[in-house]
Amino acid sequence: MVVVGGGFAGFHALRALEKRLPPDAAELVLVNPTDYLLYSPLLPDVTAGLLEPRHIAVSLRQRLPRTRLVLGRATGLDVPGRTLRVDLLEDGGTVSRTTQLDWDRLVLVPGSVTRQFDIPGVAERAHGVKTLVEARYLRDHLLTQMDRADVLPDTPEGRAEKEQRLTVVAVGAGYTGTEIVAQLQHQLTAVSSRWERVDPSDVRFVLIDLAPTVLPELGPQLGDVALSALRRRGVDVRLGVTVKEARDTEIDLTDGTTVPSRTLIWGAGVTASPLVTRVGSELQRGRLVVDPYLRVPGVPGVYAAGDAAAVPDLVVADQRAAKGGDDGTTPVTPPTAQHAQRHGHALGRNVAADLGHGQARPYRHRDLGLVADLGGWDAVAKPLGIRLRGPLAKAVARGYHLYALPSASNRVRVAVDWLLATALPAQDVQIGAIPSEAALVATAQQTERYLAG
Ligand SMILES: Cc1cc2nc3c(=O)[nH]c(=O)nc-3n(C[C@H](O)[C@H](O)[C@H](O)COP(=O)(O)OP(=O)(O)OC[C@H]3O[C@@H](n4cnc5c(N)ncnc54)[C@H](O)[C@@H]3O)c2cc1C
Repeated sequence: MVVVGGGFAGFHALRALEKRLPPDAAELVLVNPTDYLLYSPLLPDVTAGLLEPRHIAVSLRQRLPRTRLVLGRATGLDVPGRTLRVDLLEDGGTVSRTTQLDWDRLVLVPGSVTRQFDIPGVAERAHGVKTLVEARYLRDHLLTQMDRADVLPDTPEGRAEKEQRLTVVAVGAGYTGTEIVAQLQHQLTAVSSRWERVDPSDVRFVLIDLAPTVLPELGPQLGDVALSALRRRGVDVRLGVTVKEARDTEIDLTDGTTVPSRTLIWGAGVTASPLVTRVGSELQRGRLVVDPYLRVPGVPGVYAAGDAAAVPDLVVADQRAAKGGDDGTTPVTPPTAQHAQRHGHALGRNVAADLGHGQARPYRHRDLGLVADLGGWDAVAKPLGIRLRGPLAKAVARGYHLYALPSASNRVRVAVDWLLATALPAQDVQIGAIPSEAALVATAQQTERYLAG
């Protein structure tokens, strides 16, 4: 059995399979470009320097002892021939050679990639925040901007360059963009006074979105709370606006303004991994359509889940039907870790049942709500429909992440990092070593690797 993707869905599917299948029932193989599961909901904390990057990386080898891990990236699929083409990776992500894996059952859980639009300059300049490489790059890049700004002469040209270097434009006011901006703003403002010629008020954040609210996932009331917190802290939030063109030192927005900036953060949503198009089966908004048992209809032996799959949301469908609002369409679960983790568990159970071990059941999960940590004591959360803000929301957010992190040793490391970040002065050191090109969306997320056929 080959599982493509060691994220939330793949990891939890394999945990369930290792638990349910007797040792000789199947050979479990996982193809993933890294040897860890990335706990992405805590990437903003890494970008802000609160958490060590490795502490949100859960070891696949340690946590999946019965699974053979193939460090590589699946790039092609032959469904009738039951083979998978895999690029094996060297350190640094280069391809050392390509191999072929045979499968009897295939689980496709490669997640999503940052959604880019055909906007001039974005592909060449925007940095996503979906991988550890991108998160680490962004932090170092922003600290470097402070260093460069600090040595600029006090001339009109020097002042103009200083403004470009100390202004960050972020696109996307969903949980990714909002958390990244809020946490970065909090941490960078805290350390900026350590540079002789940088004033905390020089560091400027512009958060833009085409949508009319921030954090639409949490509803209008909590969105307004987050918006007020951001504006109180000086973040320039512009709604109903997006990027028209990005250049090296300035960014044109659709409201007719130009923002001098050398940093463009792209958090404008995600789209399913292009790998799923290789199945040749039905897609819904780019996600592979599956039935409630997470099987790809009409393709025996192939399953999918997580961000890459359109999984029917039976709970929402029932709620709609009860309210008489059934419009004939099937709602699908949103692309969140909360669902992907539970998809994985259900998928593992159902694949084991297909192999004669246990009972298959349709996927059904009531959304527990979302949390958003906005840096400092600012946070909003909606657990089980209850609206929370401030320190209580922060406690719920952190408590939830500690509970959901699927490794005790990572939990301890993260908890200690948070404790130390509260007790000790903020760190402002750069590790370096990641060039800007390596942290562009296309390179870091390898979005073009599938196009070669
Ligand atoms: C910054 C950020 C914050 C977030 N915050 C939250 C939050 O607070 N709450 C929440 O519920 N969700 C959050 N999410 C969303 C959540 O991370 C995703 O919904 C979740 O990771 C999806 O799980 P998945 O298993 O489908 O994909 P992933 O967890 O992304 O795993 C996919 C895996 O497949 C690998 N892969 C990709 N392509 C290939 C290939 N061709 N071959 C082999 N392997 C491949 C990837 O490297 C990765 O390891 C956040 C996401 C981000 C980026």
